[in-house]
Amino acid sequence: MPPPYLNAHCHLELSHLKGRLRGDRPFPEWLQDIVRLKMASTPEESAAGARSGLARLRETGTTVLFDILSMDTAHEAITEAEGLRSILFREVAGFAPNEAEMRLDAALLRQEARGALPPGAFHGLSPHAPYTVTPELFRLVADTARRRGQWLCIHAAEVAEETEMLRHGTGPMHDFLHRWLPSGWKPPGLRPIELLYEQSCLGPGTLLAHCNDVTDSDIELIRRTETRVVVCPGTHVYFGRGAFPLARLLAAGVRCYLGTDSLASNEDLDMAREVRLAFELCEKRIPLEQLEELASAGRAVDFLPGATT
Ligand SMILES: [Zn+2]
Repeated sequence: MPPPYLNAHCHLELSHLKGRLRGDRPFPEWLQDIVRLKMASTPEESAAGARSGLARLRETGTTVLFDILSMDTAHEAITEAEGLRSILFREVAGFAPNEAEMRLDAALLRQEARGALPPGAFHGLSPHAPYTVTPELFRLVADTARRRGQWLCIHAAEVAEETEMLRHGTGPMHDFLHRWLPSGWKPPGLRPIELLYEQSCLGPGTLLAHCNDVTDSDIELIRRTETRVVVCPGTHVYFGRGAFPLARLLAAGVRCYLGTDSLASNEDLDMAREVRLAFELCEKRIPLEQLEELASAGRAVDFLPGATT
């Protein structure tokens, strides 16, 4: 049996899109395609993909899964999987400041509509990313997550185009998203991590995904607030991205985890492969044993009390 793993970042609902997108072009173009392909998919296709993705996770040793749900198509596969422990992060996004409450309410209603989760499964909230969530919505979701004792997961500082849009209101990410931005939208003038800090989204209850485009002062904010970070080696390779941030984050004392992200930006959901890719991306400077430990199911104890294997 492969060692039990924690896969700390996945989107099982996108598994049916494996091989349908190309990563060798700017990230905003990939985003445009994923939006189009999601809208063109049926719930049945997505649900079937989630089931086969979950089977792949199980056969390769994942026993704890943190998954992002923007639809409801992966819910059954995850909650019906015997012995799997999980956090189901309900995704929230919205560009209009006056819609923040409505967006959050819709996410909470979808959680409540599912009723009680089985033992070992927990609700979380995922305000998608600083380029798709208003500061108002970030603050509201973070407050609610704290009040309800739910974990937050946020895609943050994934690409330089995200930072450019937030700091200056320019670049390909802005060009892609401007049709949805409210008229008179102004960039916050902050880096993604600074924006999340300003909106009280950082802290020991928050898991940030990616953190590729971070400065030393961003890392210091993450460390000081005890925010956790999940990095995704397979997705990093898929997009041919540059510097992998794991060694810098670990050296600063940030608590880190590994995840596969989705099959729309990765070839496999095998955590052993993620460990090997992380080893290569870090130019073999982080020992394999340490990387295995970052990916181990035992790390879930940071999130799920009593989780040991
Ligand atoms: Zn993701």
